[in-house]
Amino acid sequence: MLNGLRIRTTLLVTLLVAAVGFGYGALALTRERATLHERLRAEIEATLDALAIPCAAAIANDRVDTLDSLVANLAGRGQGLGLLEVTVVDHTGRVLADSRIERFGELLTDGFTRQALQSPRPLWRLDGGRALAAYPVISGLRWGTLRAAVTLEPLERALAVRRLELIGFFALATVSVAALLMVLLGLLVVGPIQRLAGVVRRIAGGDRSARVSRYRGDEIGELGRVFDEMAATIDRHTDELERTVAERTSQLADANLKLSQTNRRLTAANVQLEQLAVTDGLTGMFNHRYFQEMLSREVKRAERADHQFALLMIDVDHFKHYNDSFGHPAGDILLRELGRLFGENLRQNDVVARYGGEEFIALLVDSDRRAGTATAEKLRGLIAAHPFANREQQPLGAVTISVGIAFYPADGRTPGDLIYAADQALYRSKHAGRNCVTATEVPA
Ligand code: GH3
Ligand code: MG
Ligand code: MG
Repeated sequence: MLNGLRIRTTLLVTLLVAAVGFGYGALALTRERATLHERLRAEIEATLDALAIPCAAAIANDRVDTLDSLVANLAGRGQGLGLLEVTVVDHTGRVLADSRIERFGELLTDGFTRQALQSPRPLWRLDGGRALAAYPVISGLRWGTLRAAVTLEPLERALAVRRLELIGFFALATVSVAALLMVLLGLLVVGPIQRLAGVVRRIAGGDRSARVSRYRGDEIGELGRVFDEMAATIDRHTDELERTVAERTSQLADANLKLSQTNRRLTAANVQLEQLAVTDGLTGMFNHRYFQEMLSREVKRAERADHQFALLMIDVDHFKHYNDSFGHPAGDILLRELGRLFGENLRQNDVVARYGGEEFIALLVDSDRRAGTATAEKLRGLIAAHPFANREQQPLGAVTISVGIAFYPADGRTPGDLIYAADQALYRSKHAGRNCVTATEVPA
């Protein structure tokens, strides 16, 4: 991780250490250069000072050969000091002696020499890679000036070595600081933070039991402790939440169960109610209201499909007599028995209902005049032949029915017209002596 805390801090501190080291090194080198220069200057001055008195004597006595040997001698000895040249000039700047013999008699006019001629004190000036030194030759009178040039090369070499030493030292120090910092940051900061991040990651992954557990006495330790407290609180809340959810879920399931039981009971009650609404209480057959509905529906269906159907109006003959003779309950039994027989002897799609009192009504789907009449006749025959209790006591010697038939669409296109027509036909059956079937007149 190049952008990690450890690398970034280490880089920053290392840069700082390097900068401080560089600054300190530069300062130390400057000071050292000044010290070395000062020492060289003192040595050169001491050397020139030692030469000044003999030189003064030689000039005073006009002994050029003595001067020459003094200068040559010094130039020879002064090599250890880096002396490049030694010159003796008189008060006008003319060369009286020089380590290079060919300069004898030359007039030196350079700035340094002219300044030296005026100066009662020694002079020292840096000039590129060398230094120039001048020393007045005085013995009572000013006889001339000693002038020397010294190379600075050895001094610079020593400084270069020193520079290398300093760079090496600070490079080593910087690397050591960086390494130490890396280790310390790893131990004290990055390691603990990574451990904390690991715990957070585990919790994020669903491990609710993950905790930091070990706390150090610093700020990161405090962070770990606070984090653990927070995790414990969240854990507690989650447990409570889960308990509540489980409780509510079970309550909901109970309520749903009750609701579905209630729904089932309600549905059953509704079915029962619907059945009751369309059923005749005594016979269990369809009632008058339901039949009217079926009749209206069939009229529409037959109209659409261009079908025919027959409507039978049935009345029990001399039923009052039966009631009066054997009691009302016996009459009820007879009505139930009749209903059962009608149901059993008509087709599945036909609709038969108790119309009221001892009257029944039947709708024979897809039946024309011939088929409808035949069915009515079949019903009449089987009732007259059925062995009802006390049938022989009836005026006709049997329990019988009279039937009137109307046809759709010949006798009407509405339920009202058809019922009216069937009623009229039934009336005629009664007049004809009962126990018979009468259809409406065939239209002309
Ligand atoms: P007809 O041959 O002309 O039809 O004579 P009838 O005696 O059958 O006709 P009437 O209208 O004179 O009498 C019908 C009787 O049916 C009268 C009534 O007490 C009886 N009745 C009507 N509803 C019920 C019932 O639900 N149960 C019983 N037991 N008798 C009923
Ligand atoms: Mg009747
Ligand atoms: Mg009757």
